[in-house]
Amino acid sequence: MREFDYRRAHDVQHALALLAADPEARYLGGGTNLVDLMKTGVERPTRLVDVRELPLDGIEPTAEGGLRIGATVTNSDLAAHPG
Ligand SMILES: Cc1cc2nc3c(=O)[nH]c(=O)nc-3n(C[C@H](O)[C@H](O)[C@H](O)COP(=O)(O)OP(=O)(O)OC[C@H]3O[C@@H](n4cnc5c(N)ncnc54)[C@H](O)[C@@H]3O)c2cc1C
Repeated sequence: MREFDYRRAHDVQHALALLAADPEARYLGGGTNLVDLMKTGVERPTRLVDVRELPLDGIEPTAEGGLRIGATVTNSDLAAHPG
């Protein structure tokens, strides 16, 4: 795996700025897909922006009858959600 820069985003604006500053940067969620792709050289980001601590874990109904799913909602929380 190539060397890369790791940054933890403090809030949404910080996450956007960190990604915008590096065209080869990628957001890091759980890493279950991305890190495997990095190990095989398919993905070669120069920077990972960790978004796991952002307060984006809400699942809310929308006025149109859909659901708005936050960027850090886990698969298991989503699967267990009554909606
Ligand atoms: C063994 C295995 C089994 C799996 N089984 C299932 C399954 O049963 N069902 C299923 O649905 N999926 C399954 N997956 C796929 C995996 O769980 C999903 O792709 C999951 O959504 C990856 O989430 P992550 O947070 O780990 O993403 P990461 O690997 O961190 O990121 C994946 C991509 O999304 C981007 N990204 C991450 N977070 C954000 C964000 N907040 N905003 C914008 N872009 C972002 C990253 O830059 C990267 O390009 C499996 C994967 C593996 C390895």
